[in-house]
Amino acid sequence: TRPPRPHRDFIRTRASAKHNPQIRVMQWNILAQALGEGKDGFVRCPIEALNWAERKYLILEEILTYRPDIVCLQEVDHYYDTFQPVMFSLGYQSSFCPKPRSPCLDVCGNNGPDGCALFFSRDRFRLLHIHHLRLSAVALKTNQVAVVATLQCQVTGQVFCVAVTHLKARSGWETFRGAQGANLLQQLKSILSAQQEEAVPFFVCGDFNAEPCEEVYRHFLNSPLGLDSAYRTLSNDGITEPPFTSWKIRPSGESRSTLDYVWYTRHGFSVDAVLSMPSEEQIGPDRLPSYNYPSDHLSLVCDFSFTQEPHRLM
Ligand code: NDP
Ligand code: CA
Repeated sequence: TRPPRPHRDFIRTRASAKHNPQIRVMQWNILAQALGEGKDGFVRCPIEALNWAERKYLILEEILTYRPDIVCLQEVDHYYDTFQPVMFSLGYQSSFCPKPRSPCLDVCGNNGPDGCALFFSRDRFRLLHIHHLRLSAVALKTNQVAVVATLQCQVTGQVFCVAVTHLKARSGWETFRGAQGANLLQQLKSILSAQQEEAVPFFVCGDFNAEPCEEVYRHFLNSPLGLDSAYRTLSNDGITEPPFTSWKIRPSGESRSTLDYVWYTRHGFSVDAVLSMPSEEQIGPDRLPSYNYPSDHLSLVCDFSFTQEPHRLM
């Protein structure tokens, strides 16, 4: 029998305005099946815990436990055969952008490239525009991508954008990630201005593969677009990120790091609640992934509300 999934409470950060409907957003690097089995080397995770036939239900269970209105996933290498059809039947429309040269393709018996996938509730939102971006680092086209959707609330008519991305991994690539982040913000800005919607609020969800001390984090925090990171609201001082969003053991050792973020425009949204992080005890001595948690990254889930009233009620 497998141990229970870690119970996590939502921490309320402010009293939500009753008239303003909330938007629940999930950010999660789900761990590509091919990488987990073939490349990562999670030496303390039993290989049976990575069996796709069971692990896929743990991933879906995590999503269904919180029922987000918007789900942003990285390392999706089972989109067409699993997540698109299953999530569609659960009421989500979606879009998938594979990495141009996914490392999954090097793994024997792989299920195709991994990439970023965005899901949104069809009941709540209407899709206005979708963009698949390939991120550049200065002049170089890179192997990292983003999906950007412009959505409209079916009830209030409010328009906003959401982007999902996965920046380059590993140490030594800090400047590269900084350039990718700058490029993503630049491409987002030109998408919004092409739609004559510079003022629309937006979210950027991603595995940035960067600790808060890195250039790309500072660049997002200090951007003139007015971005803030939702999980800072969990801390006592309101400006500190959680101590970890990923925790794993490889042959090179144990790695406990904060890499994943939910960015939002301060002028457009306020954070009403965030899902707390599990404790070290809940994660367990073998860390992640495990029999009770299917990825080496934890899901981030936040409730937002619009700071502005809708201009028109439909
Ligand atoms: P990244 O460096 O961004 O990493 C790819 C994946 O590996 C990520 O999902 C990352 O997970 C995971 N990862 C991070 N650290 C480790 C680790 N220590 N051990 C195992 N996996 C890890 O990859 P790129 O997209 O830049 O592609 C690099 C790979 O792609 C190369 O290894 C090569 O196989 C292939 N490639 C080949 C090219 C060619 O022309 N032949 C060209 C480009 C790439 P997380 O984000 O969770 O940390
Ligand atoms: Ca990974």
